[in-house]
Amino acid sequence: LPGIDEVRIARTAQRIERKLIAVASGKGGVGKSTVSANLAIALARAGRRVGLVDADIYGPSQPKLMGIEGKRPEAHDSKLVPLATAYGVPLLSMGGLVEPGQAIAWRGPMAAGALGQLVDANWGAAETLVLDLPPGTGDVQLTMIQKHRPAGAVIVSTPQDLALIDATRAIDLFTKAGIPIIGVIENMAGYACPHCGEVSDPFGQGGAQAAAGVLGVPFLGRIALDIAIRTASDAGTPPAAGNGPEGAAFIEIGRQVDE
Ligand code: ADP
Repeated sequence: LPGIDEVRIARTAQRIERKLIAVASGKGGVGKSTVSANLAIALARAGRRVGLVDADIYGPSQPKLMGIEGKRPEAHDSKLVPLATAYGVPLLSMGGLVEPGQAIAWRGPMAAGALGQLVDANWGAAETLVLDLPPGTGDVQLTMIQKHRPAGAVIVSTPQDLALIDATRAIDLFTKAGIPIIGVIENMAGYACPHCGEVSDPFGQGGAQAAAGVLGVPFLGRIALDIAIRTASDAGTPPAAGNGPEGAAFIEIGRQVDE
């Protein structure tokens, strides 16, 4: 059947053309989803056509972060159609594949299948997909690395030792698979007291930068622990979409990732 090979070649070409950027962390709660959303918006503001894939099966939070909680994607010609957001970044989330509030207790193959549906969706003109991965080094990460071959990985860590040990493990997973590390981001670094302005370091400071140096991977920058980031995130208005100081660090990181 001559037609089938052509379709397959066209599909493969399409996949290679669309650059995947995996955002990973060794453990949960370090700000991986926050960074993914803001990085995608920063790239869009830099003129890229970007889509966002929320592959975090344990806590799909992108619909809330991007202000479209409760909306469910439709399928067209058996492909999912990403949901539009107010920030020029279409989104598909694992959370959109199950009933709201329902726990996702999928086995590896099901999670891998769902990831495939999100990545091979109807992304239209999007040239880059930012992938918010689950924390750690499990099935979804392996499938993503083996099947979808991201162009590179961004690793998010807090400056704390425990987070850094886990981040090092994540870096190791990508490096062994031949996926380049685009760089490490140190999140929740330094807290400016909203009352007196004094900066303190609840999770330490500089640890991720030092670890990046030891591992020989680029350091992309530091994002402060800032109440404005948390409240904007909870409100579905990511800081990178605004012009406030808390969004500036994300815009700068986006500029580096874009290079
Ligand atoms: P992960 O995806 O790694 O589990 P999240 O991005 O969901 O982490 O972040 C966990 C919580 O920390 C969220 O409530 C988020 O708003 C908050 N958060 C993340 N980064 C920052 C930051 N730099 N300053 C303040 N709060 C942050």
